[in-house]
Amino acid sequence: FLGPARASAGEGEEPAAAGSRRPYVVINKVSKSFHGTRVLRDVSFNILPGEVVFLIGPSGSGKTTLLRTINRLETVDDGEITVGGQFVGYQSSPSGTVPVRDAARSRARVGVGMVFQHFNLFDHMTVIENVIEAPVRVHGANRAQARTDARELLAWAGLAEYENHYPHQLSGGQQQRIAIIRAVATRPKLLLFDEPTSALDPELVNEVLDLMRRLAESGMTMVVVSHEIVFARHWADKVVFMEDGEIVQAGSPDAVFNAPDNPRTKNFVHLIE
Ligand code: ADP
Repeated sequence: FLGPARASAGEGEEPAAAGSRRPYVVINKVSKSFHGTRVLRDVSFNILPGEVVFLIGPSGSGKTTLLRTINRLETVDDGEITVGGQFVGYQSSPSGTVPVRDAARSRARVGVGMVFQHFNLFDHMTVIENVIEAPVRVHGANRAQARTDARELLAWAGLAEYENHYPHQLSGGQQQRIAIIRAVATRPKLLLFDEPTSALDPELVNEVLDLMRRLAESGMTMVVVSHEIVFARHWADKVVFMEDGEIVQAGSPDAVFNAPDNPRTKNFVHLIE
């Protein structure tokens, strides 16, 4: 099921008019504070179906928090976020907590998958059990069908031979590729990556980036928090540079990297290259 899987507008919605793609994610004037400190300030941008968006910026600039608000792991104080036409960013309840089960259901409904820096595989489960866990438990998939689909995905990713391995028997690069396949197995329309290669030894980074590139080519809509500038240059449709919770610059990789018209962006790009 990895054909050209460009995210469509939410179910039951009118198709976008020919020639104009309706944004799949709309982030509108989002602000967020932790203990009185603003970590997101009036952040707005859209993501089109099939777009690959890189979020870059110094540590502490709010990239992970923004990713977590899109996935409803964090509430927002102000503004709104919609994914596939569905409202996901919402203001904190008086207790400030997100009802977890509600959030899980909401993520399943809008089709958002997430890949973490530290893989977060279930250590006591084999590779294939990891991959079928969410399809079976969260999405109610038939177990036999989920296994068939998982095998197909693992083969596609070149990981078929590891289906009965446990995570600790695999390299970090293999574990992260399995974490990506686990996220893909829920058939998300949007995949979020939070520094997916920063916990890896340098020689393992490319195998993970290659898999991400193949997903991008298959039409997956992706938001990637990463310092992999070379990858961003080649594969991002849009680069969003954040600093101090604000978007300093957003545009094509060419516009952001080759002609940074903002001194803050220029300084950052020079620092990490
Ligand atoms: P980045 O991903 O760009 O490094 P983060 O979104 O992780 O930035 O963090 C932005 C700011 O928010 C940092 O100052 C961080 O310390 C703070 N922060 C993030 N999460 C929390 C939290 N749960 N509680 C308090 N402060 C937080």
